Amino acid sequence: MRPCIIERYYVTTFSDLDLHKLLMKAINAQGYETPTPIQTQAIPHLLDGRDLLGIAQTGTGKTAAFALPTLDYLLEHQELREPKKPRVLVLAPTRELASQIAESFREYSQFMDCVTQTVFGGVKINKQIRDLQKGAHVLVATPGRLLDLMSQGALHLSKIEILILDEADQMLDMGFIRDLNKIIAAVPKDRQTLLFSATMPKTISELAGQYLDDPIKVSVAPESTTAERVNQGIIHVANGDKLRLLSAILKDPSINRALVFTRTKHGADKVVRKLLQSGVQAAAIHGNKSQPQRTKTLAAFKAGTTPVLVATDIAARGIDVDGISHVVNFEMPNVAEQYVHRIGRTARAGKDGLAISFVAEDELYYLREVEKVVRKPIDIIAMPADCDVTPLPVPDPNFRPPKPKGPSRGGGGGRSGQRQGNRRPGGQSASGKSPGGDQRKRSGGHANRNRTRAKVSA
Ligand code: AMP
Repeated sequence: MRPCIIERYYVTTFSDLDLHKLLMKAINAQGYETPTPIQTQAIPHLLDGRDLLGIAQTGTGKTAAFALPTLDYLLEHQELREPKKPRVLVLAPTRELASQIAESFREYSQFMDCVTQTVFGGVKINKQIRDLQKGAHVLVATPGRLLDLMSQGALHLSKIEILILDEADQMLDMGFIRDLNKIIAAVPKDRQTLLFSATMPKTISELAGQYLDDPIKVSVAPESTTAERVNQGIIHVANGDKLRLLSAILKDPSINRALVFTRTKHGADKVVRKLLQSGVQAAAIHGNKSQPQRTKTLAAFKAGTTPVLVATDIAARGIDVDGISHVVNFEMPNVAEQYVHRIGRTARAGKDGLAISFVAEDELYYLREVEKVVRKPIDIIAMPADCDVTPLPVPDPNFRPPKPKGPSRGGGGGRSGQRQGNRRPGGQSASGKSPGGDQRKRSGGHANRNRTRAKVSA
């Protein structure tokens, strides 16, 4: 592997990263041999206390990229847990992602004294209140439930030292901007802030400009390009033929695990019913399913007993399951960046993956939008053998379909709210933080590094 040179750091192995020995032990226990590119690029700067804007999709190892230096900080600055006052806050768009992040924090902190708690909606709030009362070092939360808990006085953010926004583009797509603004306003200004996003739309750079202080920027894939290893194909097919086509595709024995995206929750249920009728084991995951149902479905998908999971965009967010061999876009997303998220669910951990998109006549506009984001036309692939569906004629590549009218399609939940009021009234610094605020000096143990959490100017 070519050494990755970051300013004065030469990083090829985990030991080069100079993480605390209890974290090294956890890394070994995970079986990780070398840091991933986002880890080599981010961790040295995070250990130095810099803010960070990370452009990385799930599957790149970004969770460890932010969790390891965060835990290193907690090891270097040990304090007793205080009821209701966590020291680290991680915000994530969905419960599934929040659970997975918390699971990673627990794995990486298994040899140290660190309590990680999750709070998200869809489950009873009382237990979360009781757990917060016991105190946690790290809180992983979805924005809505977090605000509920704050308004009930069950949680205070006055002791947050590290704030991490994960999958920030998705949080904005889900209309969480107001919630984010409220939450960040309640976090002390003197903090380290990390913002991760799979894509870099203007709204994300605005959010970063508002809340990050002279951030290091790391990107493991150029803006909005799709994972290189994902083979992508489309089939032009009439809406009425999609269910038959899907059943035919999923009968392919090379499919280990397939994730199928539909636009609506109702659509996901309908697809599952049809697949079950045709003998394909499938289950749906979407916002109308209870949390226990979602957990059970995801576990069956992970275990391989249900090889096909049908999901809406929001529910699928953050599903970190290895070995998804196929992603099928039963319907095209109406927000092109969503396509990148969807297909990024396959081809993880060095494996190959195939993403197939069904494109009906009324979805041609969305196909063209996606092709702009991935910066190439997507190949048309053949119908599976033994499939009686006739593909639609291939449209003229120069044909520019008009944008469909009517209510917003796609499962992204719309973009309402994301442009509202996300600039602070004038006068404040870009980050709104106190200048040069270094309250969190790193102490000894790593003599050859400048281990301060100072805001180092570029
Ligand atoms: P993430 O992008 O954080 O969702 O991580 C994707 C997967 O990569 C997870 O299953 C991690 O356990 C795994 N992972 C993270 N870092 C490494 C590493 N350095 N080596 C091998 N696997 C890793």
